[in-house]
Amino acid sequence: MRDAEPKAIRLKDYEAPALQIRQVHLAFEIQPGETTVTSTLQIERVRPGETDLRLDGQELELLDVTLDGESLSANAYQLDEDSLTLFDLPDRCEIRIVNRIHPERNTALEGLYKSGNLYCTQCEAEGFRKITYYQDRPDVLAKFSTTITAGSAYPVLLSNGNLVDQQTLNDGRRQVSWEDPYPKPSYLFALVAGDLARLEDSFTTMSGREVKLVIYSEPHNIDQCDYAMDVLKRAMRWDEQRFGREYDLDIFMIVAVEDFNMGAMENKGLNIFNTSCVLASKDTATDPSYMRVEGVVAHEYFHNWSGNRVTCRDWFQLSLKEGFTVFRDAEFSSDMNSRTVKRIEDVNFLRSVQFAEDAGPLSHPIRPDSYIEISNFYTPTVYEKGAEVIGMLHTILGEEVFRRGSDLYFERHDGEAATTDDFLAAMADASGRDLSVFQRWYVQAGTPVLAVESRWQEGTFTLILTQSCPPTPGQTEKLPVHMPVAMGLLDADGKLLDPATLQLSSDSEYDIRGDSIVLHLATASTSLRVEGLATEPVVSLLRGYSAPVRLKYPRSPEILKFLAIHDSDGFAAWDALQTLLVDEIGSYSGRRRVSETLIELFAALLEQAQAAVISGSDEDRFMLAARLSLPQESYLFEQFEQVDVDALCAGRDALQQALAAELREQWLALYQAARSVDAYQPDAAGMSRRALCNLALGFVAVALEGGELVELLEAHYSQADNLTDRRAALVAALHSTSLDSAVSRRLLQRFLDAFRNEALVVNQWFSVQAGSPTCSAQDIQTLAAHDAFDGRNPNKIRALYSAFAQANLRNFHAADGSGYQLIADTVLALNSSNPQMASALAKPLTRWRRFSGMRPGLMRQALERLAAADDLSPDVYEVVIKGLAD
Ligand SMILES: [Zn+2]
Repeated sequence: MRDAEPKAIRLKDYEAPALQIRQVHLAFEIQPGETTVTSTLQIERVRPGETDLRLDGQELELLDVTLDGESLSANAYQLDEDSLTLFDLPDRCEIRIVNRIHPERNTALEGLYKSGNLYCTQCEAEGFRKITYYQDRPDVLAKFSTTITAGSAYPVLLSNGNLVDQQTLNDGRRQVSWEDPYPKPSYLFALVAGDLARLEDSFTTMSGREVKLVIYSEPHNIDQCDYAMDVLKRAMRWDEQRFGREYDLDIFMIVAVEDFNMGAMENKGLNIFNTSCVLASKDTATDPSYMRVEGVVAHEYFHNWSGNRVTCRDWFQLSLKEGFTVFRDAEFSSDMNSRTVKRIEDVNFLRSVQFAEDAGPLSHPIRPDSYIEISNFYTPTVYEKGAEVIGMLHTILGEEVFRRGSDLYFERHDGEAATTDDFLAAMADASGRDLSVFQRWYVQAGTPVLAVESRWQEGTFTLILTQSCPPTPGQTEKLPVHMPVAMGLLDADGKLLDPATLQLSSDSEYDIRGDSIVLHLATASTSLRVEGLATEPVVSLLRGYSAPVRLKYPRSPEILKFLAIHDSDGFAAWDALQTLLVDEIGSYSGRRRVSETLIELFAALLEQAQAAVISGSDEDRFMLAARLSLPQESYLFEQFEQVDVDALCAGRDALQQALAAELREQWLALYQAARSVDAYQPDAAGMSRRALCNLALGFVAVALEGGELVELLEAHYSQADNLTDRRAALVAALHSTSLDSAVSRRLLQRFLDAFRNEALVVNQWFSVQAGSPTCSAQDIQTLAAHDAFDGRNPNKIRALYSAFAQANLRNFHAADGSGYQLIADTVLALNSSNPQMASALAKPLTRWRRFSGMRPGLMRQALERLAAADDLSPDVYEVVIKGLAD
């Protein structure tokens, strides 16, 4: 344990600084081994208050500091580990600071660091203080100009804004100057220096301005940037059309970087991307990777308004930019592809990962009220639940009013640092709606439970809805929230009743939206009555997953099957089938065969799938692939309050085997029908076909044995002209219980030999193995010793250790505790070199209360071992202490 315990920072202590930096010029001199930063700050008093100015700074070597041109005497300032404080400043002054940093030694990848031969920055949330002394907080907005000087080995020198000057100095070095006309906080600063190839294009904005678009990458990757460029142009057009947002600089740049802790970063005019979120080619990206590139390129671009032009007042408001921008990128992806499939993917993630966080000791509201290390709060709660909350607002207000609200928000707060309350106030003012009950979504943690009961009596159907929310750390009492519950009623033939013709009544407000009823549940309980019906209807509930809640609505297998077949809402139909599957797995007793209901349902869906391959739409194929997929272990575990790892894994295996064996011919027929003879295209037609084909391959590989299986897998691998299919062959081989392991080893070796020089493909090579049911903690250690592994590269760490702890739950939770030990060892190894990665890896250990048997004790032991370590970083300390708290 460290000597001084890191302190928590609280929202209620927020205070705006009286003296603020209004303008800054940064001059970087990049030399081998060290970089000198000269920062010239224009300071102004913006409100009455203190006369001392505290500047954040970490791991900096201060060389000089002057005030209005005069050197400062030693008693005019104070320097400590985290800050430089200047005393008794006038209301207006210029401060010049010179300091030295060592990007080459920066393994935490925060601030300015070196990735291969490339210098780059990551400043969100608090990385800028590792570059120079500054008010490193989002509510200090200043105009930045930057000059970079570097040797000829670094011909590309980039920063934010517009390029204003470039020259070659007499000594051969290059010097480039950039100016950003838009005031911004330090977390949006960026710098890149390297020898990079470029892909150029242009975009004409809605007001007719020409914007230059450039994607930079290392030369050998530049042919993998075309897809991202295409997405960028589509995203720019979409944001104009859907949100009225136009781009504002002369140039927009993206740089692909190999060593990056996050997915990507929205620095003003100069986005920096993890290669995994920007590069795409048929041999290096799977279909889901293409989708991810589309989502992330759009997300970072959208931040130019929701994040940059309007930023966050403090880091407690992180969801202001992230929740809103995740909502925006999800809408973009839904408009570009299938809305229903995108919704299913998002709900799958929410229920697997965010619900787990909400139910554990790290549970926090989307606007947290305290933190020790803000890096720990880039969470699924702030992002994904944050986006769900914006989505509910969209459902409550409707598209037109929501757009009025977002226009008002941007207009009111352009150039400012705002709060989530400001956002809600704009929405309330634009709509005339009282959002005070809705606001509780921002301050209450935990996943609300929606319990539903229905009654049928003499032509009257009554639905009773009750909400509650379990206690979370620090919050025992919860108030009701405002949740929109979208529903429809189906008659006995499965036909949706037109809500406009129904005799509805309720104590609560409700709207008719298209073919659904949206009931506003804003109290603990309410009911909805429908009179004058001839027969009892079946309810299609939470259509489109209109609120991020756990639904408790006991329904018979027959009703769920009925909904799975007839519900016209694609999400609700999928959800009914998932519920059936989870029930089936949860009730597995070790002997019983799979229920007839499920076999019949799968047989019917398989028939539809085969027809869809021949004559259906892309949407049909995507939907059927989603419906025929069994829930992943992470999803499954979250459906139970007490998790019995062995029973649930055995139940899932038994179900998969039974469905594979009973319907073997149908899976084979689907597999054959869906195999494509066309060359790879990353379009909906190809992706939906591959989704069905590779899903069928998974079941076929379970059903077949011996030479027949070997032949099929080798043919699938050899004939593949793309990574999606090759990867599917490897996954199927590694998941088969009957296949000789020499066959999978042979396929893995072929894969590695062919793509050893493609880092993103090598990551896949690690992750398919780390996620396979036969991969133990011991095997992970063997893989970590492989010469293709690099323990400092975040993508490799994720491909091996995160894939193991998050996607290979049966081995992470191995009964002997070896999985927990491996992860704890890795956290300790990364604790000082990369605290952000270390704390992310420690998080799964904190969920020990949810498991049955010996596992909670073993998980606690691993956490206690971490707690006892010397020099724990604040990042890991916070996760471990909260994980052990009573
Ligand atoms: Zn973001």
